[in-house]
Amino acid sequence: LLTIIKGNADMLLTRMSSNHPSRERLLQIGQAADQASVMTSQLLAFTRRQVWHPRAMDLNRVLNGFSGMVQRLVGEHIAIDLQLCEGELSIYADPVQVRQIVLNLVVNARDAMPDGGTLTLKTYLLNEDDGKTVRFEVRDTGCGIDDAALENIFEPFFTTKEGKGTGIGLSMAREIMERTGGTIEVFSTAGEGTLFQLSWPHARETVLDTPEGGTIENAPRGTETILVVEDEEDLRDMLSEVLRDGGYTVIAASGSSEAHELCGDYTSPIHGALIDVVMPEMNGVALSALLKRKIPDLKILLMSGYTDDIIGQESESRPGIPFLEKPFEMRDMLFKIRALLDDKLHPGGG
Ligand code: ADP
Repeated sequence: LLTIIKGNADMLLTRMSSNHPSRERLLQIGQAADQASVMTSQLLAFTRRQVWHPRAMDLNRVLNGFSGMVQRLVGEHIAIDLQLCEGELSIYADPVQVRQIVLNLVVNARDAMPDGGTLTLKTYLLNEDDGKTVRFEVRDTGCGIDDAALENIFEPFFTTKEGKGTGIGLSMAREIMERTGGTIEVFSTAGEGTLFQLSWPHARETVLDTPEGGTIENAPRGTETILVVEDEEDLRDMLSEVLRDGGYTVIAASGSSEAHELCGDYTSPIHGALIDVVMPEMNGVALSALLKRKIPDLKILLMSGYTDDIIGQESESRPGIPFLEKPFEMRDMLFKIRALLDDKLHPGGG
């Protein structure tokens, strides 16, 4: 649902003149949806239903890519000071989860500065005796944290935001950091702002990332034929429209039998397929296997929100199927589709 909300808001924004009176409202829809995605993914992660795809990723690139979203989330009254070091900062982690941690820290910093202030996001590489460490700092000039709260902020469900907070953001952040061999620390004094310091071992692998940031308009295009299989009608329509706007020919199906029928009738080549995992008739993984038998060259990208049951277990036995996690941005979908068709996509992730 969030993919539909965000996708439609983004699409309208790109079609609207920059001084349109309703622009502000649309930006707010996008902002609320961004925040809802952060919360949903926290809840999914908390109940272990989120898929984990660690790989070598460039922290600077991720941060650079969503500085616009960060500004939208915090609002105009908070100044953002982005101090990213030069060059690539590679860590071995799941970019979706890293985004999730950063956004949670950003939302917390915003909540701590209701009357405005400065949010500093800083990265650097530490050279220590036992190796290199990638550091990321989030600093705010907000209310700070008193000693009693400081002891508990990483506990699940600890929140001082009655009715508005879930209290799982920081506990998740710590769990994720530990899983990737990193740490998260907090330094704060009541009334004097807060510093969160995250550290990861520096990864030596080369980073192969899709570019971050930008809009649908500057996403890559193509002329290939893509099969879209998605049971949710609104999302199917939107994906088809965005892909057609991107130059592709689209065949859209609501489920496996329709996909079968359409592929059977189609006489020109079908190059790629974007397939939902959780569907009523037959799940996307099974459908992919069937389609692959029919069209051996078909390149497949799966998409889903909760995939523990299907992809989580099967991905090891099927390392070849790349995956797009919902909710996603339409531009990211376009980047992934392009990479998929060009054979540049990482299996099992992106
Ligand atoms: P939530 O934001 O839903 O309450 P978190 O786990 O993200 O859950 O945070 C737990 C608590 O830690 C918050 O309720 C707040 O009291 C405190 N906290 C976190 N970050 C900050 C910050 N930057 N400044 C002040 N307090 C903070």
